[in-house]
Amino acid sequence: MTEEVKRVYAFGKDAQGNNVTEGNTHMKAQLGGKGANLAEMANIGLPVPPGFTITCQTCMEYANADNTWPEGALDTIQSYREDLEARMGKKIGDAADPLLVSVRSGAPMSMPGMMDTVLNLGLNDESINGLIAQTENPRFAWDSYRRFIQMFSNVVMGLDGDLFENAITSMKNVRGAASDTDLSADDLKELVAEFKQIFSENVSAEEYPSLVVDGSVQFPQDPSAQLQLAIEAVFGSWNNPRAVLYRKQNKIADDLGTAVNVQSMVFGNKGNTSATGVAFTRNPANGEKEFYGDYLVNAQGEDVVAGIRNTSPIADLKHVEGLEEAGRELEEVFVTLENHFRDMCDIEFTIEQGKLWMLQTRVGKRTAAAALHIDIEMEKEGLISKEEAVMRVDPEQLDQLLHPQFDKNASYDVVAKGLNASPGAAVGEAVFSAADAVAVTEAGRKCVLVRWETNPDDLAGMIAAEGILTSHGGKTSHAAVIARGMGAPCVCGVEALKIDAEKKEAAVAGTDIVIREGDMVSIDGTTGSVVLGAVDLVLPELTGDLDTILEWADEFRTMGVRANADNPEDAELSRSFGAEGIGLCRTEHMFLGDRKQIIQSFILNDEPAIREKALADLLEAQTGDFYGMFKAMDGLPVIVRLLDPPLHEFLESPRDLEVEIARLEASGTPAAELADKRQLLSLVDAMAEANPMLGLRGCRLAILYPELPAMQTRAIATAAARLKKEGLDPEPEIMIPLVSVLPELETLRGEVEAVIAEVCEAEGVELDIPIGTMIELPRAAVTADEIATQADFFSFGTNDLTQTTFGFSRDDVEAKFIPRYLERRILPCNPFETVDAGVAALVDMGCTKGRATNPDIQLGVCGEHGGDPDSVKTFHKIGLTYVSCSPYRVPLARLAAGQAALAEKMGDHRDK
Ligand code: PEP
Ligand code: MG
Repeated sequence: MTEEVKRVYAFGKDAQGNNVTEGNTHMKAQLGGKGANLAEMANIGLPVPPGFTITCQTCMEYANADNTWPEGALDTIQSYREDLEARMGKKIGDAADPLLVSVRSGAPMSMPGMMDTVLNLGLNDESINGLIAQTENPRFAWDSYRRFIQMFSNVVMGLDGDLFENAITSMKNVRGAASDTDLSADDLKELVAEFKQIFSENVSAEEYPSLVVDGSVQFPQDPSAQLQLAIEAVFGSWNNPRAVLYRKQNKIADDLGTAVNVQSMVFGNKGNTSATGVAFTRNPANGEKEFYGDYLVNAQGEDVVAGIRNTSPIADLKHVEGLEEAGRELEEVFVTLENHFRDMCDIEFTIEQGKLWMLQTRVGKRTAAAALHIDIEMEKEGLISKEEAVMRVDPEQLDQLLHPQFDKNASYDVVAKGLNASPGAAVGEAVFSAADAVAVTEAGRKCVLVRWETNPDDLAGMIAAEGILTSHGGKTSHAAVIARGMGAPCVCGVEALKIDAEKKEAAVAGTDIVIREGDMVSIDGTTGSVVLGAVDLVLPELTGDLDTILEWADEFRTMGVRANADNPEDAELSRSFGAEGIGLCRTEHMFLGDRKQIIQSFILNDEPAIREKALADLLEAQTGDFYGMFKAMDGLPVIVRLLDPPLHEFLESPRDLEVEIARLEASGTPAAELADKRQLLSLVDAMAEANPMLGLRGCRLAILYPELPAMQTRAIATAAARLKKEGLDPEPEIMIPLVSVLPELETLRGEVEAVIAEVCEAEGVELDIPIGTMIELPRAAVTADEIATQADFFSFGTNDLTQTTFGFSRDDVEAKFIPRYLERRILPCNPFETVDAGVAALVDMGCTKGRATNPDIQLGVCGEHGGDPDSVKTFHKIGLTYVSCSPYRVPLARLAAGQAALAEKMGDHRDK
C-alpha cells in the first residue's frame, strides 16, 4: 500500500472564526517560507486572509514528471478550494459575490522577486458584475479585472508586458490622462476588452487547445482553468533562468521546489481607508529599534515594491484619517511578531477599508551593521542569549562591514542624493543595462549599473556591477533588497536622475550635468551620495557592535586566529582586528622591486664575490624587515617562512627577454650589450621548468642554495636579538616550506639551528626559536608521524595541499574549468575557497600522526581556507590550534571559530 502524501495545507479561519490552520513555521521545507509563516501567524492569532498552500514536494514531482500532475493532486486542490469557498462563504467566479484569490510562489529559502505571482484570480465576464455590485465601485472592479488579465497574460502565458502597457499608454494619450488613476471605469472596461483581444491574438492555439472557443483562443473564463494554469505557472517559475541564477548565486539547492499559496484576496485599493505596505520591525539598514517601511494609500502590493508611486513612512500610518486603528494594530503586530520569532521580521500587509490583514512575514534581511546591532540589542532586551547572538551573525555578511567607503579626505562634489539602500561605496563606469554591466566586467573593467529600477531580469548585471544606482524605488524596492542580500553597494530612488536607457545617459535635473555611458561614477550606499568621477575609497575601521560580537565569539572559541602578513603595516592592521600572531610571513613577498635584482644576481652568478655581495645586501634588508615585523607583533608569535617562490617568479620572463633582444638588435645596440642580454637569456632558459609550481620551490631551493636559508635565519635571529636588547619580547618561529621527506627537514633544521646558535653567541642573548614545517604535500601528510619528530609545529598549506591532492594547477583551474564543474555540480564548491573533504582528511591524518610522535606539536592552517568560514568550522572539528588568514578575514575567522565551538557545544548537549 502506498502511503498517502499530504500535498495541501489549509491556513486561516473557518466560517465560524475557528483557526483551521494545518501547518506551522517549522514546515518551511514543505510549505515554503511564506506558507509556513502564514500558518504561524494564523496560529498566533494574527489576521491572515484564509487560504491553502500546495507543497514544494508537489512542485518537484510535477517538474520531474515533465510537468505532469501527480495522481490525485488536482482533486485534492479542488477539495481545498471548495473548503476555502465554504470558509469564506463565497465562490470563485460567482456572478453575485465572487471570491477572488491570489496565487503566489513561496520557496523554502527567500528568493525575492524571482518567481511568479498572480492576483485577482477568479474574475471573468460574469464575476465582474458581482464585484461591481459588492463594492459599488465599478472603477475598482474594472481596474482589478484589467490588472488580472494583464498579470495572467504576462506571468502565466508569457506574453510581453509591453503589449498591455502600450495599450494603457495610448488610452491615456487619447483621453489626455496624466496617470492611470485618471482613467474612468468606462475607459478601464474598454481596456479589458482590448486586453482580451491582445490575449486572443497572441496566445498560440496549438500550445493551448483548451483555450480555443469557437475557433479562436479566448481569455479563460472558467475559474478552475485559471487556477490550474496559474499554479502550473508558479511551479514552472522555479526553473525560470533568473530563479536558477539566483539559486546558484545564493547556493540554494535546485531540488527544493516552491510551494504555491492560494489565498483570498484583500484589497488595499478600495479607496482612502485602504492601503498596502511593507515594513520591518526594526530598521534593516542600521538595526535601530524603530518601525520601518513604507505604505501607499489606495494601492495594491505590487505598487509599493515596484516603486512606481512614492510611498509614505510607516510611522505616519496611525495619524492618517481612517487608518488610525489599523496603524495602531499594526504596531502591536510588530511587537507580537518580534516576541514570537525572537528576531527582526519583515512583513507585508494590506488594510482593506480600515481592517488590517497580514499577508506575509519572515525573518527580515538586513545589512551586516544592522544584524550586529539587532543581535546586541536583543541580547540586552533578554530576547536572545549571548550564544544565539553569536550564532546568528553570518560570517560572510561581516564582509559588508569591511567594504570600502569614500575616503574622508577625498574632495568630491555630490551631484545627486538618493536613498542609502545598501552600504559600502563603489566606483566604476556608468552602464545602463544589465547586459552592458556583464560585458564591461568581462572586459576586466569596473562598472556601476544605472537603472530606472531593477527587475529580476537584471540579476546577472547586478552581480557583475560594483554597485547599483536607481532613480526610482524605495528601500524595499527590488534593487535595494537584492543589493543588500549580495552585499553590493546601492543607492536607490535618486529622483533627480532622468535616465534615458536607450541613449545610455542620465541627466541630473536642475543642472547641466549628464552622466554618459563609460563616465566614471562613484556611489556611496551608506550615505546615498552620487558623484560624477572616481572618488578614492578606503576600508573602514572596526569598532562598536562588531567589536562586541567578536569579543563574545572570542569567549566561546577554542581555536586561535592568526594572520598572514609580510609587512609591518599589515601586521599592525591584523593585530587591530584581533589576530593573535602571524601564522605565515611569506618572505618571498619581501623580494619585490629592487630586491629582485639582488636575488637574481645571486641565483644567476657563479662568481663568489658577486654572490657574497648579494647575500650581504639581502641580509641587511631582511634584518630590517624582520625587526619591523617582530616589533609590530611584540609579544605575539610570528612564523617566518623561509623563501618559497616558484623560481620563475624571481627570474626575467624568457619571452620578454627575447622581445627585448630583438628590439635592441633592430635599433643597432652595441654587440657587447647584446651579448650580455643573450647570456642572461641562456641562463634563464637553462633554469626554466615545465611545471614551476612543482619544481625548484620551497625547501628544495634552500637545499640547493644553503646560503639563502642561512642568510634569512641570521636576519631573523639578529632582528630578534636586537629587539630583546631593547627590552621587547619578539617571538619568531621559523617555518620550512614544501617538505615531502623527513631528511629535507632534518638537514635544514640542523643548518638553521647552527646559525641561531652563532647569532646567540655573537649577540650575547638567549633565543628560543621554534622550528616547524608546512604540510602541503600529500606525502608529508601521510608520513606526518616521521616529520613531526623534527618539527615543533605544523602549518597546513592547504593551497598547495589542494593543488597536489587534486592535481589541479592552482594558477589555472579556477579560470579554466572550476566554474563549469560547479555549474554541473561535479564539485560542490571551489576547493581553493572551501576546503575539500579529501584535503581535510589529509589534514586530519597529518594532525593525528603528528601528535602521535610529538604530543606537544602546535597545529595550524595558513592556506586561504583559514579565512573561509565553512573551512574554519572543519578545522575546528579536526582540532587545530589556530587558523591563519589575510588581515581582513581575521574578524570572520574569529566569528566562525566561535560559532564552530558553540555548534559543537550545542551538539554535545543534544547528544546527552
Ligand atoms: C599554501 O600552500 O597553502 C600556503 C599557505 O603557501 P603559499 O600559498 O604561499 O604557497
Ligand atoms: Mg604553499
